[in-house]
Amino acid sequence: MSTPPINKINLVLKLQPGAKLHNGKQFITPGNIAIAEDGTIKEISPNIVLSPDIQIIEIPEDGIVCPGLVDGHAHVAPDSFWGEGLTLEHDFLMQGTVLTIDAGSDGPNTIESDFRDKVINKQDLPNYALAYINIAPDGLKDEKAENYNIDKHDARKTAEMALRYPWIVGIKIRLAWLQAKEGTWKAALRHAKEAATISQKPLMIHIGHGPGILDILKELEDFDQKIIITHCFQGHHSGSIMRCKDDWKKMQDRGVYYDMGNGEGSYSHQTAEEALNAGFNLWSISTDKHKKSKWEMAPSLPHCMSKVLLHGVVKVEDIIKMSTYNPAFLIGQEDNHGSIEVGKQANITVLQHQKSDIPKFRFLDYQQAERFNNEQFRSLFIVRNGNVTQSII
Ligand SMILES: [Zn+2]
Repeated sequence: MSTPPINKINLVLKLQPGAKLHNGKQFITPGNIAIAEDGTIKEISPNIVLSPDIQIIEIPEDGIVCPGLVDGHAHVAPDSFWGEGLTLEHDFLMQGTVLTIDAGSDGPNTIESDFRDKVINKQDLPNYALAYINIAPDGLKDEKAENYNIDKHDARKTAEMALRYPWIVGIKIRLAWLQAKEGTWKAALRHAKEAATISQKPLMIHIGHGPGILDILKELEDFDQKIIITHCFQGHHSGSIMRCKDDWKKMQDRGVYYDMGNGEGSYSHQTAEEALNAGFNLWSISTDKHKKSKWEMAPSLPHCMSKVLLHGVVKVEDIIKMSTYNPAFLIGQEDNHGSIEVGKQANITVLQHQKSDIPKFRFLDYQQAERFNNEQFRSLFIVRNGNVTQSII
């Protein structure tokens, strides 16, 4: 008679006194984490029996073990204007992000030859890169205008793609002044809404100069999927969240979620500070990392988390939730990502919460305004499906 295979432990994260453990929603009692050969979390306990053949990684006292970070708005499709030159491995995995969501770099005409063939099919592990599909047929093929001419927009074709590929998690539309002139933005939004309704997937809307948030939401009154408004801390007047302050609570109740989407031109220290101090409910932190923002503005998700920390309003516990469970929930991935639990895949990021006596950590906004803080997060390493990848920053 054959005996069932023993799911042996081959990696243990051993927390030093002071190190913290976060389960995606909150801090929990710290314990060592045992990861089995099949990549699942086998045990969380202070008393794991360690044999010599087990790899042990010590977590320093300023370490935070949390679910693998989920970047809900990034660009990694290499044929698109913004994703050019970025790679999953170098720009995301090695910077602390375990799950990367490309936010509409491709549309229905380009997503198969670009994101599917060059990202999905080239991953070493499945399900660690996902995408929104852009309602514009060619996605973000060039820098600016994709909704000026909507003759070729095709909601049904977009929805069919979204239903055909499980790695397409939502529909994306950009509605700033540069992407949708007056006269076309409402029609483009109607197409995006139809595609999201048919495919039963969330709709991510990029805001900026251009239509105001309330005007956009007026067009979506009968829409019943999640609405994700990204670039919420952009400081441009017409699309600013500060213009609809009285409606924040109402929006939250109807399923509108606000995402950071730092990017190159979409994060203002002043807007973030004012909004957070006024009780704004930020749902998720994301980089909008692309070929321009990757250098200084949004080099990594831990850097963008540190920008939220900078304002001194949101607790560390909540900042981690906004970068793990919350973005996973938006795209229906909360069973696979965004949590640490015995029996689940070991998708983990180990952060260091660095503190200094002097404010030496530097953060820039879209106007190149500098702010300094005496604390920040950086990634030490990630565990993906049980495998360790060291971070490079
Ligand atoms: Zn973007």
